[in-house]
Amino acid sequence: MRIFDPHIHMTSRTTDDYQAMYASGVRALVEPSFWLGQPRTSPASFFDYFDALLGWEPFRAAQYGIAHHCTLALNPKEANDPRCTPVLEELPRYLVKDGVVAVGEIGYDSMTPAEDVALATQLQLAAEYALPAMVHTPHRDKLAGLRRTIDVVAESNLDPEHVLLDHLNETTVKVAADSGSWLGFSIYPDTKMDEDRMVSVLRSHGTDRVLVNSAADWGKSDPLKTRKVGDAMLAAGFSEDDVDKVLWRNPVAFYGLSGRLQLDVPAPEALHEGNSILRGGE
Ligand SMILES: [Zn+2]
Repeated sequence: MRIFDPHIHMTSRTTDDYQAMYASGVRALVEPSFWLGQPRTSPASFFDYFDALLGWEPFRAAQYGIAHHCTLALNPKEANDPRCTPVLEELPRYLVKDGVVAVGEIGYDSMTPAEDVALATQLQLAAEYALPAMVHTPHRDKLAGLRRTIDVVAESNLDPEHVLLDHLNETTVKVAADSGSWLGFSIYPDTKMDEDRMVSVLRSHGTDRVLVNSAADWGKSDPLKTRKVGDAMLAAGFSEDDVDKVLWRNPVAFYGLSGRLQLDVPAPEALHEGNSILRGGE
């Protein structure tokens, strides 16, 4: 089973995770820039983080045979902090970089006027820089947040076909699908979507334009959830081709809209032979 995790925050994960992901079939991933938990107090903190997502983290992933790409943006939560909003002015110089495959994660957290501005501005940047957009839908007030997101996308210059609406569930999948956008589902260990609910959504909705991710980060999460969904699909009677479509071809098609996917990372053994395996502190 080959797996592309289209949303995972590896900065918060260990090398054991990289190893286990590789062993489970993960060969490529996208790391969206997001809220680090600790509030940032200046744009410079974002730029160091963006540079890490473009340099250090792809290097670390490659040691484990995994192709790493990122999406960059001012995240919805910090869009409310005036100390952070100047990031929007500097974002264009990052969006031209090779490792960036979308603008994201953008969207709504609390649906404030500041979030309206950040979302509309960044959808416009995505259109200008010919990148797709990865849009987070709020965990609270989900359906209202999704509807408002779809309205803002419709008012933007970006095609809905170039937008991924993430963190969907049974209550939001139909409205999201009707908008013409791609559909992202984050699978969590004990709350929100789990693998069995995901299989039910795939049964009723089908596999078209569906992406499944672990959204693993610094909270309780599981970087192997993509594999567990693949196994659950097979157990439920989906074919290997269905699994490959959801876990590989769909994310490749969506992020391939950037024209920047590089999926040819050598297997880790080849790297180990050269004795270049990464060790902490060296
Ligand atoms: Zn995320």
